[in-house]
Amino acid sequence: MENWRNDGYPSDFEAKQMILEIGRRMYAKNFVASNDGNISCKVSDHTLWCTPTGVSKGFMTDEMLVLMDVDGTVIRGNYKPSSEMKMHLRVYKENPQVKAVVHAHPPAATSYAIAGLPLNRAILTESVMGIGEIPLAPYAMPGTEEVPDSIAPFVNTHNGCLLANHGALAWAGDAMTAWMRMESIEYYALVSMYTHGLIGQVHELTCDQVDRLIERRTRDGITTGGRPQCRNCSQEGSGACSSCGERPAGEADAHKSMGEEEEVRMITEIVKRVISAVKL
Ligand SMILES: [Zn+2]
Repeated sequence: MENWRNDGYPSDFEAKQMILEIGRRMYAKNFVASNDGNISCKVSDHTLWCTPTGVSKGFMTDEMLVLMDVDGTVIRGNYKPSSEMKMHLRVYKENPQVKAVVHAHPPAATSYAIAGLPLNRAILTESVMGIGEIPLAPYAMPGTEEVPDSIAPFVNTHNGCLLANHGALAWAGDAMTAWMRMESIEYYALVSMYTHGLIGQVHELTCDQVDRLIERRTRDGITTGGRPQCRNCSQEGSGACSSCGERPAGEADAHKSMGEEEEVRMITEIVKRVISAVKL
């Protein structure tokens, strides 16, 4: 079994090394506290390695990992797998192309999940192309079937999702990509928080710009990720963007007509907010 290997799957050794490395990075980047988070990686159509429960993911060793089948039956390992593995198994069941799943509680993404907000604003070119929009799965009681049911609708169309009042989930065709998607989700959330919350001003991409980024993404072979909303299309009564009307979205025009006094007031306000955030 140790060296059994199907096409397109990592070996047992490779999968375990990747899980240990991702666990270290996850903990070092403050994406999890205490023993939180879990990682899994398939090594065949029917089997996968996963992380144990009750252990810090930053300090795992090889013998702590658990080999299970896709129905959740433990094949090898002395530790108990996480109860959140049900969520991972559902991702694999829904989308056979997925070979790795990463779950964490990164602070900015989790804050959006607590606020009940998906990450669906077109604010970063790399986010539109790399991960697309990140929907919010509705609240589900941990450890129950509600959790896998809540994420199932997104598994074939998106690359990850937020879990209401809980954290974030990312999946991909290999473990490193799943981890990088988790990093991208947190970065997207953090920048959204800085711009929306702290600076209070956002220049969102237009429909045209988003269309071109998605075209490029599709050319690169990424067919999942959804489409971030156009704020102007979705807001009644506001000026239309270049795809849906005459004028691109954004604050640039507002700046033009802004008097010097108003500009000084706005900058002072931003500086005040940054200073108070730093004090926190
Ligand atoms: Zn969790």
